[in-house]
Amino acid sequence: MTDGSGDGRDPLPPVERLRPGLWTIPVPLPNNSLRYVFVYAFETDRGVYLVDAGWNTDEAYAALEAGLRVAGYEVGDVRGVLVTHIHPDHYGLAGRIREASGAWIALHPADANLIRDRYAEPTDLLALVGTMLRRAGAPAEEIATLRSAAMPVRRLVDAVLPDVLLEDGQRPEVPGWELSAIWTPGHSPGHLCFWEPANEVLLSGDHVLPRITPNVSFHPQAGSDPLGDFLRSLDKLAPYQPGEVLPAHEHRFLDLHQRLDELRAHHAERFREVLAAVRDGDTTAWAVARRMSWSRPWDRIEGFMRRAALGEALAHLRALEQRGALREVVGEPSHWLFTERAADLTG
Ligand SMILES: [Zn+2]
Ligand SMILES: [Zn+2]
Repeated sequence: MTDGSGDGRDPLPPVERLRPGLWTIPVPLPNNSLRYVFVYAFETDRGVYLVDAGWNTDEAYAALEAGLRVAGYEVGDVRGVLVTHIHPDHYGLAGRIREASGAWIALHPADANLIRDRYAEPTDLLALVGTMLRRAGAPAEEIATLRSAAMPVRRLVDAVLPDVLLEDGQRPEVPGWELSAIWTPGHSPGHLCFWEPANEVLLSGDHVLPRITPNVSFHPQAGSDPLGDFLRSLDKLAPYQPGEVLPAHEHRFLDLHQRLDELRAHHAERFREVLAAVRDGDTTAWAVARRMSWSRPWDRIEGFMRRAALGEALAHLRALEQRGALREVVGEPSHWLFTERAADLTG
């Protein structure tokens, strides 16, 4: 989870050539503890193709421009932008790159479908988020703030529609490279990883990061069981044996399978925490979220971070519902109770 404490004092990682024809360009995320997103650039005889783009700010655009120049290109040489998912730090700048270069933008359809309601016409979505918050048991005095907590990032996004829809297993047209898309829903419903077989590298987006666990939230655009999706998407990477994983944040790393195990263990521990909370009578999602352990005390988790924490609690509750351990007694607020079968499942 981000905590907004990034202060820009540490230098960004360098622009680097990772393999022949493959570059990494860190693009800054001001006032964000993640500090930067890695854009990956693939050289071809027709120009350069990017995986992810960065936020739509002048600073990000300038950093991308400078990074491409190190690799020997201009923004006008970009032919395609493969976007791992529609979060602003990945997709926000794609429209501006397309404008400058005529590049196509590719997204998974499940994320492409969310653009209009999320970024262009959010009135209906805000109403749904309000209902979700009341159902989750958020205190009345916090609902207005939490409902609109994601609105400030809209200005970091150029809400353009993609030119290319990439389904699971499809190969984007990047000449000379055999990239393939792996649909890994969870962190976002249309999240894509990319496998590059010649160098055996996996571009993991936000799905698998080396140190932090990606936020997996239940919300009106998340599908019915985003955490179940996320865990299945971890399993989906099991057949791959990358020599190196190229994530969108933090740093590159070697051992994919160890990291997959750590992420599974993290959520297993989270499930135990959530079940213990319900057992103790904390039966609303809000009460469960307050009980879960976070990187800082609940009282210091504010705004969008608080909504993301609540979304994580809800994602765990929904996944436990799918597993038959809990059931939701729907109301405002809803209460989460053990099912008859729960004793067998949870010991
Ligand atoms: Zn993301
Ligand atoms: Zn990200």
